[in-house]
Formats: sequence, C-alpha cells, structure tokens
Amino acid sequence: MKPLGPIPAGYDARDGVLVIDGRPATELVEAAGGTPLFVYSTSRIRDRVTSLRQHLPERVAIHYAVKANPYGPILKLFDTLVDGFDIASGGELELVRAAGIDPAVVSFAGPGKRDAELEAAILAGVTLNLESEAEADRALRIAERFGKAPRLAIRVNPEFDLKGSGMKMGGGAKPFGLDAERVPALACRIIAAGAQWRGFHAAAGSQALDAEAIVETQRQTLDLAARLARESGAPLPHCNLGGGFGIPYFPGDEPLDTARIGQALGERLVALPPELADTEFCIELGRHLVGEAGVYLCRVVDRKVSHGEVFLVTDGGLHHQLAASGNFGTVVRRNYPVAVATRFGAAVEEEASVVGCLCTPLDVLANKGGFPRAEVGDLIAVFCAGAYGASASPAMFLGQGPALEMLV
Ligand SMILES: *Cc1c(COP(=O)(O)O)cnc(C)c1O
Repeated sequence: MKPLGPIPAGYDARDGVLVIDGRPATELVEAAGGTPLFVYSTSRIRDRVTSLRQHLPERVAIHYAVKANPYGPILKLFDTLVDGFDIASGGELELVRAAGIDPAVVSFAGPGKRDAELEAAILAGVTLNLESEAEADRALRIAERFGKAPRLAIRVNPEFDLKGSGMKMGGGAKPFGLDAERVPALACRIIAAGAQWRGFHAAAGSQALDAEAIVETQRQTLDLAARLARESGAPLPHCNLGGGFGIPYFPGDEPLDTARIGQALGERLVALPPELADTEFCIELGRHLVGEAGVYLCRVVDRKVSHGEVFLVTDGGLHHQLAASGNFGTVVRRNYPVAVATRFGAAVEEEASVVGCLCTPLDVLANKGGFPRAEVGDLIAVFCAGAYGASASPAMFLGQGPALEMLV
C-alpha cells in the first residue's frame, strides 16, 4: 500500500458522508447538478487569510495570485479579504474586472505580454511588472499613444532561488524578470520617461514548506531591493516580496510555520535601510490561500480487478486534477490526500487505485492507496484541490469538458 497525502484538519463525517462547511458531500453534488465537482469553502479561505494577518506584520499587504483559482465567486470573496490581486494575462484582467475588482489594486506579471494586453492594463490603471527592457519600451510607447502615465514596476530575476521550492522562478537564466544588474538602468529610464514608478517585484519560487527558507529568501529580497533602490537613485515606493508559501500535499508534508515567517519579517522591517524606510510591501500568494479550501468530488463509475489489483474508475480525472495525477511540476509521483467521501472515516479494507475516465495511463488520482471498500456510485474526494485544479488542467482533453464548481 502506498501512503496518501494528509487530509487538511477539520473535515468530519455525518452518517458516513464527508461534510464540507456543514453540508454532506452528497447534498452538495445534488445541489450543483452532479459530478465532477469542485467545492470551495468560504470559511476555510476566510480563516486562512485571518490567521495570516495575525502572523504577518501589519505593514505587509496580502495579494492574491489569481492564477491559482480564477473562479468568479472566489475573486469576489477575496475582494473582501485581501489588499490586491496579481494577474498573469489579459484574460485574468477581464476576470478580475468582471468580478468588480478595482484595477488600481491589480498588478500584472508574466512573460510574453501582448500589445493588446499591455494596452488594456495601462488604460485600466493596472500596475505592470515589466519582464524585459523591450516590454518596457512597448509599454511606454502604448502609454504615450494614449497620453497616460503608466504604473510601472520591474520584475527582478534575483540571483538567489527559494530553497526547497516546488517550482523555482529565480536564480540563473530565467524567462521571468530582468537580471538584477540591469534593473537600475531600466528603473532610471522608466522614471525619466514620466511613468508612475511602482518599484520592484521579486518572486523566487513556489510551494515551500520550510519557513526558514522563506525567511532567508525574504531577507535576501529586502537586501536586493535596498541595493537596487540605491543604485537607481530614487526612493522605492513599493516592493512585492513574492510568496512561495506552500501547503502540505504529500505524505510526510508538514504545514508551513507562518508565525515564524511573520516574526522574522517583523524584525527585519523595524531595522530597514533608509532606501526602504517609506516602501510599501506586499506578498503574493495563491495556493496557500485557496489550495486547502477546495475538494474535488467525482463518482465511481466502475470497479474492476486486473491481475489482482483493484481499480476504482471515476468520472473525474487529470483533465481537472492534473496536479493530483502527478503531471504538473512534480518529479516523483506521490499521492494527494484522497478519500471515499461516502464512506468517510471508515476503516481501511483494501488497496485500490483511483483512476480517471481518460484513456491514458497518466490518469491516476491515487495509486495503490488504502481505502474502505468502495462500490459503483460512491463519491471520491480529492483534497487540496482549491488551487491549480480547474484552472491548470486540460479540461478539453478527450472531449471531457470542465468540471462544475461551487463556493459554499
Ligand atoms: C504563480 C505565481 C504566484 C503564486 O504561486 P503560489 O505557489 O500559488 O502561491 C505568485 N507569484 C508569481 C509571480 C507567480 O507566477
């Protein structure tokens, strides 16, 4: 038997059925109109933001990275909870606007911004985190054509990366941001061109569970920001410290100690160099805010045995849960937290693999896990499904189409 990932705390059963925000999974599926279904919990998202605010220094704003989960009701919820939004495409700009979010609290990072995306962002008053000198030139030209002073920041490709992070976004040659030594020259040019200078953005990695690694990255980021501000010769209005806060997905993963991060950051912020004395700071988080607040529910449509191994074949799969299948940025496949939602908390009776309905051997939601005996019609729950689920999976693969989504 292979271990399953840790189910986030606080889930229990009523009459053997998994309860999400006070409602049985079976009732939620009926209310939504079937499976596969993503259920997102308002109270879990709210609790997560509240606890982060308690841990982080007041001076550090919290931004939500929209790409983790751009579902409209979630964006509206975050609009009541966080201080800003980070988008990574013109499509996400349309989604935040459709959710009624003020573009003035939105910043736009991401390589390969097209002219039409730059134009839409500049006209809306969104801050652009510039990824190259050429992108800066295009942004300035577009802004001039419309007589606007664009809000511009520079995304820095730092010399360091976030140790132990799942996806590295800094350190060495990267398509993201501008190599640190070229940043001061571009900052001077942007300021001289009359743009509204918005400072630096440095994102060094993602999905870290080691608080000390994040503390160290934030320390390095603050040092780098101070040095670049000094070399740019202008006060730094704003600095996005990146994020990288992870969540436990796999067997043995421990929750991130955000209190420790907040304490260390607080100590740094009271002893800042003069270049950063008036700087506003933010962090940008995706999965840490929504990942554990989502459950993916699918239904067993076939139960079969092959060479003595049990397969629970569901109506879900990697077309909604690419990450749980192990095909989204993981090197070695390990099991997410997965359970039989209609026999939740029951004793383990057998080893079974939960697979999806796609005709590919990649479509595995749980490999040889221990489960109570499940039958056709039972519901399977994949936890930690709130981030990079619906939005980061190939829903059109094999003509399957998207899953249902609901916020409760
Ligand atoms: C994807 C991304 C994030 C969010 O990452 P999470 O691991 O979901 O927190 C933050 N910043 C940048 C620049 C990103 O590209």
